[in-house]
Amino acid sequence: MNIPRVVEIKRIIEESDSVKTFIFNWKIQDEKPGQFMMVWNFFDEKPMSISLIDPINDEIGISIKKVGEFTESVHSLNVGDEIGLRGPYGNGFEIKGNNILVIGGGIGMAPLMALVDEAKGLGIKVDVICAALSENELLFRDRIKESGASILTCTDDGSHGFCGFPTELANQILKESSYDMIATCGPEIMMKGVFDLVDHYKIPAQFSLERYMKCAMGLCGQCCVDNTGWRVCVEGPVFTTDEVRLITEFAKYRRDASGIKQQL
Ligand SMILES: Cc1cc2nc3c(=O)[nH]c(=O)nc-3n(C[C@H](O)[C@H](O)[C@H](O)COP(=O)(O)OP(=O)(O)OC[C@H]3O[C@@H](n4cnc5c(N)ncnc54)[C@H](O)[C@@H]3O)c2cc1C
Repeated sequence: MNIPRVVEIKRIIEESDSVKTFIFNWKIQDEKPGQFMMVWNFFDEKPMSISLIDPINDEIGISIKKVGEFTESVHSLNVGDEIGLRGPYGNGFEIKGNNILVIGGGIGMAPLMALVDEAKGLGIKVDVICAALSENELLFRDRIKESGASILTCTDDGSHGFCGFPTELANQILKESSYDMIATCGPEIMMKGVFDLVDHYKIPAQFSLERYMKCAMGLCGQCCVDNTGWRVCVEGPVFTTDEVRLITEFAKYRRDASGIKQQL
């Protein structure tokens, strides 16, 4: 499991101007939504959430946003090209109850898409707030509809759906509806807004956090969070509201590759 397996890219889906989903043959065992893979381009290795878990066709998918050197190199690959994958790592989401709200911002929709698929497969009612800066960056709209979940889109510039932040839309919804659970992933400032909402409305929630990762196996300590020392790669990346409350750096700062604090 901790040694990369070299696999061929089976399909590539262009999700938006900056995001592509890469699909691989992969014997599905106990992979869970919210877990991630370490992706190796034979020079470097980076964490990527699992966005598709298909046990029928034994396929796994990762959705990558082009932001820098590593992600650009993966985006330049074609069907049939090889890449290394090791994992899955991390704890993943735990579905609780029969009625869940999913709030995803930008590429944060990647792990949540796998969660939506799993929840719908279990017959659970799922409402999704799918948010992005603008319409051309909204992810997985067709997949969400095909899954049977209901989708509300939300853009910062108002080019599609609700104009504003997903937390404003969630607040409007939560005034009238209740949920057994909320799952969220996206920019940490957005998740802080979700944290405040779920604290106010007393709804159990799970948050998927990102921290700079190196080994992903809990050895190097790179992704430890203050003040708990939890390793995001092992104890996370998914944390409950009460756990997030103890993470004093949440929505304040994170550490770069050399451990220096970067304000959020
Ligand atoms: C658990 C987890 C799941 C993730 N899932 C996804 C996903 O599904 N799709 C996706 O597009 N991105 C995901 N990311 C983020 C992704 O790993 C980084 O965007 C990517 O490594 C950037 O590499 P780069 O060289 O292209 O860009 P850089 O220019 O090197 O970095 C761009 C940003 O990515 C961060 N980053 C760089 N290297 C790492 C690293 N080793 N670990 C964590 N963050 C890093 C930097 O701090 C910076 O904020 C995830 C990160 C984590 C921790």
